Amino acid sequence: MCGIVGYIGDGNVYDVLVKGLHRLEYRGYDSAGIALVAPDGRLNLYKAKGKVSNLEDYCRDKDLRAKAGIAHTRWATHGEPSDSNAHPHFSQDGRIALVHNGTIENYKLLKDALKQHGCTFHSETDTEVLVQLIEYIKINNDCSLLDAVREALKQVVGAYAIAVIERDHPDTIIAARKSSPLVIGIGDKETFLASDATPIVEYTKNVVYLKDGEVAVIKRDEPLKLVDLENKDCDIDIRTLEMSISQLEKGGYPHFMLKEIFEQPNTLRDCIRGRVVDDGKRILINGILDNKEKFLNAKRIVIVACGTSWHAGLLGKYLLQDMTRIPVEVEYASEFRYSNPVLDDRDIVIAISQSGETADTLAAVEIARKQGAFVYGVSNVVGSSIPRETDSGTYIHVGPEIGVASTKAFTGQVMVLTMLAAAIGQLRGTLAPEQVAELGKYIIRIPDLVTKVLGLAPQIEHLSLIYTYARNFLYLGRGYSYPVALEGALKLKEISYIHAEGYPAAEMKHGPIAIIDAEMPSVIIAPNDHLYEKIVNNVQQVKSREGSIIAIVTEGDKEIRELADHVLEVPAVPECLTPIITSIPLQLLSYYIAINKRKNVDMPRNLAKSVTVE
Ligand code: GLU
Repeated sequence: MCGIVGYIGDGNVYDVLVKGLHRLEYRGYDSAGIALVAPDGRLNLYKAKGKVSNLEDYCRDKDLRAKAGIAHTRWATHGEPSDSNAHPHFSQDGRIALVHNGTIENYKLLKDALKQHGCTFHSETDTEVLVQLIEYIKINNDCSLLDAVREALKQVVGAYAIAVIERDHPDTIIAARKSSPLVIGIGDKETFLASDATPIVEYTKNVVYLKDGEVAVIKRDEPLKLVDLENKDCDIDIRTLEMSISQLEKGGYPHFMLKEIFEQPNTLRDCIRGRVVDDGKRILINGILDNKEKFLNAKRIVIVACGTSWHAGLLGKYLLQDMTRIPVEVEYASEFRYSNPVLDDRDIVIAISQSGETADTLAAVEIARKQGAFVYGVSNVVGSSIPRETDSGTYIHVGPEIGVASTKAFTGQVMVLTMLAAAIGQLRGTLAPEQVAELGKYIIRIPDLVTKVLGLAPQIEHLSLIYTYARNFLYLGRGYSYPVALEGALKLKEISYIHAEGYPAAEMKHGPIAIIDAEMPSVIIAPNDHLYEKIVNNVQQVKSREGSIIAIVTEGDKEIRELADHVLEVPAVPECLTPIITSIPLQLLSYYIAINKRKNVDMPRNLAKSVTVE
């Protein structure tokens, strides 16, 4: 994952880079480092294990004057988090520094070869191989940094976004990408580069999203130049950023996660806007209207995703099957890509990823396209790789999500999948106009209903105190509430480090029921849907094993209220919309439990947000 930043210009290089690292810290926080080309021609390298704030402490008494620089915040893949494994990495003679996001798969081979040529290595990373190789090529061929980078990248198997800087040419940064994201910001006599646009938006709205195989030559006094690995010029497509700086700040909340949970009425409004029209009577999804034939002739839909997006995908299966009657399969992208999948041109593959950069999902997209399937992306980050690599798609439009544990992106994904299902159902005639109108009417009300659910926060905060020290949790649901149970359990695990299992409530008797006792709370998602009576039975089963029960129920519920220890009431909505409503109390519960345990909810240990490595 990792985040990289680079800057060349007359601004304060150190400040721009460190601020950028803070914005990218959601991508990894094992270590941080910075390389600055000083006006006196030295290349200063400062790095520290842990968060960016450790790097700042370390740099306090250092020489921070610079003409240009590159910086990195790491999520370790090769070599433990340590000072020596922190990026930037130096070449043998200390003249070249490099930062890298990605993994070099053939690094062992390259490392052995370089060792035979006398190279000594100072880290366990795959990345260091790259900078040593660049130096080796540069010295042996007496060529420019650009040529050495191009030649080195030809020998590399793997994924990378890199930025390279050279002591002897302080007015140039070379950057390149393959399968890891990289954005270049073009300002007035200054240029930025970063893993996403968040470090750039404050300075300029003009950005170029680097494509796979492109190398950027960023010079102080010359316009940006892009070439491919063969040194052929590439077109420069300058886009305008839609993001605003206020979206990247906490806005008075103590954590991004809480801000993002409370933003959901607005993010859902943005997600629905222009897509549910005529008071809900029609659902307009451009990606479907533009590809009607594909959706009319589809024989199967395969959803590929990872993590929380996979949970949204599982809900997508229920939604799409209910409304379109097309058979749907849901696959973990990391399994799908190695499962020798069988697809053809009547298959539709839906790839879901908040960042649009998830490496496994991108690989799945590539396989699906090669086999002739029609590939549809559901992403949040405009201009990211998945929207670019897919045939069509829909953005969830929830704004930047900074908290590592996904909240508003999940509800945005579920909302988009609901609208997609309804739009395809409308097109294929599997949903009658009255059914569309009934659903549309409720979709429009969802943002207000979510505001109402957020009103449960004080009750949930109080409840969280009772369960802060539970060591295990069970989350149970059926039908549309089963993926919600999975997502609820994942949220708790991610940020509070309490073991939690999500399970289909009826499957419990085939195993997990054995672990229920007075020490094991169960969170049961039980809205008033067509499986309500069934889940009442499951609640009884937990109760008779002395397990305590927190139930999410529909307002006015009577039966479960009598059995559960605690109930959280949510407004009534049609069954297919319950996941958006019932997932919100679970987000709040995990947030408050993690806060009680004094965990860093925005940056949970070992995790990073945008999973751009395999
Ligand atoms: N492979 C590099 C390292 O371990 C970069 C990791 C990444 O981008 O996640 O340092």
